[in-house]
Parts: sequence; C-alpha cells; structure tokens
Amino acid sequence: MPTELLFRDDAYLTEAEAKVEAVNELGGIVLDRTIFYATGGGQPGDVGKLRRADGSEIAIGTTIYNKEDKGQVIHVPAEGQGAPQVGETVTLVLDWDRRLKRMRIHTALHLLSVVLPFPVTGGSIGDGDGRLDFDIPEGGLDKAEVTEKLNELVARNAAVSERWITDEELDANPGLVKTMSVKPPRGSGRVRLVSIEGIDLQPCGGTHVRNTSEIGLVAVTDIEKKGKQNRRVRIALA
Ligand SMILES: [Zn+2]
Repeated sequence: MPTELLFRDDAYLTEAEAKVEAVNELGGIVLDRTIFYATGGGQPGDVGKLRRADGSEIAIGTTIYNKEDKGQVIHVPAEGQGAPQVGETVTLVLDWDRRLKRMRIHTALHLLSVVLPFPVTGGSIGDGDGRLDFDIPEGGLDKAEVTEKLNELVARNAAVSERWITDEELDANPGLVKTMSVKPPRGSGRVRLVSIEGIDLQPCGGTHVRNTSEIGLVAVTDIEKKGKQNRRVRIALA
C-alpha cells in the first residue's frame, strides 16, 4: 500500500493521526498516511515525533522513501528510540519551525528561477537557506541586483497554489506547457503543477507557502562559479 501523502494537499498540517503499517528491520516506521515530507527534490526529509496513545514519544530523525517501493514513506527514528506496534494508532507531530523555513526557501527558489530564467541543473533546500545551480553562458550576475528583483517578487503578495493535471489535459493544452518554466515529466499519468499567481508555473511535488509574502525578505548570499557554464546561486532568509 502506498503511503497517503497528506502534505501534498495541505502543507500546513502540523499534526495528524495515522496507523502503523510496518516497522522494518532497521526500525523504520511505515504509516498508512503522513504529514512528513520525505527527502526528495533537493529538500531534506522532515523531522518531528510520533506520539503514542500512552503519551510516550518516538523522535523521528528524518523521513525517506522506500527504495524498493517508491510510494512508501519511511519515518526513520532518531537513535535509541522505542518502536511502535503494527496496527497501533499514533499522532504525527511535525517540527513545524524547521518545515516552515524550508517551505519559505523552497518557494523563494521558484522565484529565483524566474529572476534568472536559465536552465536549472541542481538545487538544495536547507533550514533557512538554499541554492540553485544554473546553466548560464556568461557571468556578470550581481548579488544586489538579483536580491532586489527577488524581493520585488516576494512583495507582490502572490498566491501560491497547486493542482493536478492529467497527461491528456497537458496534451490538449500545448500552450500551458509552453508557459511552464520546467517541462513536466511524462509517464505517471498526472502531474502536480505549482502556480505562483502571475509569476510562475512549474511541475513540482514539494511543499510551498500559500503566499509569497510569507517568504519574507531574502538575500542572495553568494554567487559561485561552478565550471564554465555553471553558476551556483545561494539565498538565505534575511
Ligand atoms: Zn516547488
């Protein structure tokens, strides 16, 4: 059974009940559903805890996808934690401070890809900072200028929303694909599109804030040359 990904529909859930489906040989906990984002797309897996019915807690150090079954999420306990029983109902409690910082950075990186409309070759999201690597033929990027443009977009108070679209709908709307900053992946039958109203549209499975205003002030902290055609642009919450 694939894990139901509650964060895909509501990234603001900080607590949820779930049932323990399995505990693997390494202690990894599989639940029927989760609010914990699993490592992927440059964003680290969520941390938090599982609260058991008797009030005891199991600290979760990270969250990952099962390599053999990509639809299954594994909650990896921190060292020295107890294990729940299969069939038990637990309450997931997310480390929200950390997740919100990641959501703010993640959404800011969407905006960065608008300020710098070049092919993205990589990226990473941290707790309050992050980076994108761009395929940029020439240098001359100015930190202050990119920062200013980025904050202009943040200040537009643009709504961020997600919706699913089927491959058939995509085929029927070639114009939509043309407006996307990243080409949607094919083959899974449907694609999750993230829209920043009037600013950006791209396929993404990550967690975002609901409005660009929630990002707050950001700054470009570094622009690094990574090879002839590559620039690594780092940003941080101000
Ligand atoms: Zn995203």
